[in-house]
Amino acid sequence: MSRRNELKHALLQHLLLHGRATRPELVALTGVRAATVFEAVDGLKALGIVEEPERRGRKTGRRAPELSCAPDCCHVVGVDLRLSGCVGVIINAAGEVIHEVEHPAGSRQTLLSVKREILEVLQHLRDLSADRWHLVKGLGFADPGLVDVERNYSIRAVNIPPWQELETGRMLKNASGLPSRVWPEAMVKTRMEYLQRLPEPPESLFNLVTDDGIGGGFVKNGELFTGSSGRSMEIGHIVVRPGGARCQCGNSGCLEAVASPAGLRAGITESRIAGVDLGGLPEKFTMAEFSEFAARNRGVRIIADQLCRDLAKALSVAVMLLNPEMIVISGEFADLGEYLTSSLRRELELRCFPESVRELKIEISTLKTSDTARGAAMMMRDLILLGETGKNENRCR
Ligand SMILES: [Zn+2]
Repeated sequence: MSRRNELKHALLQHLLLHGRATRPELVALTGVRAATVFEAVDGLKALGIVEEPERRGRKTGRRAPELSCAPDCCHVVGVDLRLSGCVGVIINAAGEVIHEVEHPAGSRQTLLSVKREILEVLQHLRDLSADRWHLVKGLGFADPGLVDVERNYSIRAVNIPPWQELETGRMLKNASGLPSRVWPEAMVKTRMEYLQRLPEPPESLFNLVTDDGIGGGFVKNGELFTGSSGRSMEIGHIVVRPGGARCQCGNSGCLEAVASPAGLRAGITESRIAGVDLGGLPEKFTMAEFSEFAARNRGVRIIADQLCRDLAKALSVAVMLLNPEMIVISGEFADLGEYLTSSLRRELELRCFPESVRELKIEISTLKTSDTARGAAMMMRDLILLGETGKNENRCR
């Protein structure tokens, strides 16, 4: 890439991340001569990617106008296949959601039925977009399982059995007519947690995703860590109770099998059958109810304490190996709130260097349901606008 293009690339990357910036800010950021930066900005404007209000009053001391991404230079579809259903969004180039749909999960007994669910979401978005569909330039997909990111290939989603060994990127491209890319949902969510904390993000962040299964993601200095074959951060398959409940991966006692939302519910059903007094905890409880009952019923508290110990056992591996500045708890367990964060801190103190835990921030995610689909669309938007430079595809900034 020529130096001129490298500069354009860096300026655009900054604008995609932060949304807006003035010319003087970009000069200060790059440390390049103002004339060279202005030339690169004008190049981005000529491409129609960046827009700028008229530069009036340049010498009157008023603040310089802010550059931003031209919202309609491209629209992008994002799809999130989750256990409860399929969420789809269309975003503009500024990352704003224009359309959002959610279809509940069907039977999912066969691959065909899962594909049909995705196609219906795509068709719904297409109908909503109507005469602006021609602006849509790509599709980003948040995959519920293991992914070979380089090959756009879904390896296996343990909670959606037909979803395995699939050329997902090609299938989505054929279905939508759009260039399509596939990322693991935990990676997409981790990136969104990072973006959520701008302009002052943590230096490093570990995200514990407790949705349908248990996943993880790690971002350091804005860069997602993916491992050599995209199978890193599989915290859900660390064995925390040897000989415990059988996991869908084939092992026994994995964190996902014993301390995911589904594992917790299975454990509670067992306790109920065994006659443990659970103080009237409803059979279908929310996590907020679970933490309320844990505060006043001994039987539920014992189960909750075991849950926190199991989560801390796995998280202590992340703390000791990665020394993150922040851990974020996202997914269903986020509703356990303060009960979970304080218990985790206590348990981690028993298992890690005290200094690592003392300085560790433990936060609860504040992302919305549609933010995963939006995140996948934003990752695709960045690829489209920055060009497929390969090395930049997993960067947050
Ligand atoms: Zn497992």
